[in-house]
Amino acid sequence: MGIILKDITKCYRIGEETVAALAGVSLEIKNGEFVAIMGPSGSGKSTMMNILGCLDRPTSGSYLLEEQEVATLTDDELAKTRNKRIGFVFQNFNLLSRVSAWENVALPLVYAGIAEKERLNRAAAILESVGLASRKQHMPNELSGGQRQRVAIARALINEPSIIMADEPTGNLDSRSSVDIMRIFGDLNEQGKTIILVTHEPDIAQSAKRVITVRDGLIISDEVKEQYYV
Ligand code: ADP
Ligand code: ADP
Repeated sequence: MGIILKDITKCYRIGEETVAALAGVSLEIKNGEFVAIMGPSGSGKSTMMNILGCLDRPTSGSYLLEEQEVATLTDDELAKTRNKRIGFVFQNFNLLSRVSAWENVALPLVYAGIAEKERLNRAAAILESVGLASRKQHMPNELSGGQRQRVAIARALINEPSIIMADEPTGNLDSRSSVDIMRIFGDLNEQGKTIILVTHEPDIAQSAKRVITVRDGLIISDEVKEQYYV
């Protein structure tokens, strides 16, 4: 169960040239792990995240997600798997600026066909769980960066995914908000969520239980830490 990548490659053609963004990656992530993927710019982190997150398919190799082969799914099937299993958090929060925190969090439930009252009730409960009960009605531009990211985390949780994927989630935050956000990921992990985050900041990666380092499309180190985050 969990995630098993076997010999994953992802190649991009640029004119006559082919670039291997991933050059043969094998990796197992068990349910309930808290993993940071590190590496310099251009090393293949985003490409790996796009594949792990079912946003894109590999050029070759196998990707088993909960025992289902997803490397060969159609776009529709891939989207279905993604919406069911994975919540996303981004560096720039990706909130809708014209609707409240509450509505931002409730929005994914519209596509799930859930009635408005139920949507707002669920969104309120999740906002409360990330410490934003009193900010429900605020618009994104009335919130701090750390608060916006908490709204984004609440939105990622609304469909009850088992996996949270975060791409540089603290990249636009000051160090105190970064610590808060990493603590929320730590708490979610304690509650059983699998957390996979991409970062190029060593301090942030150290909050995870396992640090995978990527370079030139290959995994160059994979360290499991004994000590959990502080
Ligand atoms: P990182 O996230 O670590 O910065 P990326 O996964 O974005 O790395 O990129 C890895 C390599 O693949 C880089 O050389 C990048 O230029 C190339 N690459 C990524 N996406 C594309 C694309 N859509 N088309 C062409 N080349 C790409
Ligand atoms: P990050 O800031 O996470 O390292 P990048 O800026 O390297 O990400 O890339 C962001 C996205 O842009 C990637 O997911 C990839 O799809 C695309 N991309 C990266 N490099 C290229 C490229 N050389 N040509 C086309 N698209 C690219």
